[in-house]
Amino acid sequence: MPKLEVKGITKVYKKGAIKALDDFTVTLTPGVYGLLGPNGAGKSTLMNIITDNLNSDKGEVLYDGESIKKLCKDYRSVLGYMPQQQGLYDDFTLNRFLWYMAALKGLNKKEAKEKIASLLDTVNLTNAAHKKLGGFSGGMKQRALIAQALLNDPKILILDEPTAGLDPKERIRIRNFISEIAEDKIVLISTHVVSDIEFIAKEIILLKQGKLVSHDTCQNLVNEIANKVVETEIEKEELKYFQDNYRVSNLCHNDDKIVVRLVTDNPPENHKITIANPTLEDLYLYIFEQGM
Ligand code: ADP
Ligand code: MG
Repeated sequence: MPKLEVKGITKVYKKGAIKALDDFTVTLTPGVYGLLGPNGAGKSTLMNIITDNLNSDKGEVLYDGESIKKLCKDYRSVLGYMPQQQGLYDDFTLNRFLWYMAALKGLNKKEAKEKIASLLDTVNLTNAAHKKLGGFSGGMKQRALIAQALLNDPKILILDEPTAGLDPKERIRIRNFISEIAEDKIVLISTHVVSDIEFIAKEIILLKQGKLVSHDTCQNLVNEIANKVVETEIEKEELKYFQDNYRVSNLCHNDDKIVVRLVTDNPPENHKITIANPTLEDLYLYIFEQGM
């Protein structure tokens, strides 16, 4: 079973002024992993290091026990990567873009022809093959980028915010699609949108300011905040107080009252509260909303 070990990775920028990753360690085996953290957490930095597009200051990445630096070309041949920022060759047709990427990845003509045809079908873009990328919708662009990452049949697939900028319908389509292609691959998806990974990830990796907070199944993670999610009814006039003093994960207007959902270690004492079932979104708030 393929195994990717990320060991003690530290990365600083600006001569140490910014610590983008701080002694980050995790081991990945086949399945979908959700890398979850707010903007600036270090997700892209980690992905750039895992894909050997950036050098770390400390630590190493091993694929099946061998350093990826040593494996070099052999590693690249099992790797598929969709970077976050991508110049999208707007004047290329999708077909030309995929042929170009296939050449970069060293596929021969016969392999490229077969692979491109089957991938166009997989990402449901066969009809758009001869259209220019510049005219694609956000969802079509993302699917085109995922298709290029799959050209070499990668065993490791790294997707940096594959659903950024998509509307809910497109997000769902991409999510289901990732789930389908994930079989027997190591798939790492970064996002700051909980629902992108909540139901398809076998494990969630929480990254905060370059540090691993925890990684576990969604169920185990939300169990960490059992009894910390409460709902209570408040007066309209109290809303500001609650927003200033609690993590409010949801609020619902109910005639002249408001029902608030709070994620807290110290539930309000002068209100009648009910304990709610925690979700990954509640946990996200608990971890990333500080000082409450
Ligand atoms: P994320 O992908 O989670 O949004 P990044 O890995 O892009 O996070 O960034 C992590 C931190 O490193 C941020 O503080 C960001 O500003 C900083 N950073 C990222 N790339 C560079 C760079 N090339 N030069 C300087 N700082 C950078
Ligand atoms: Mg990023």
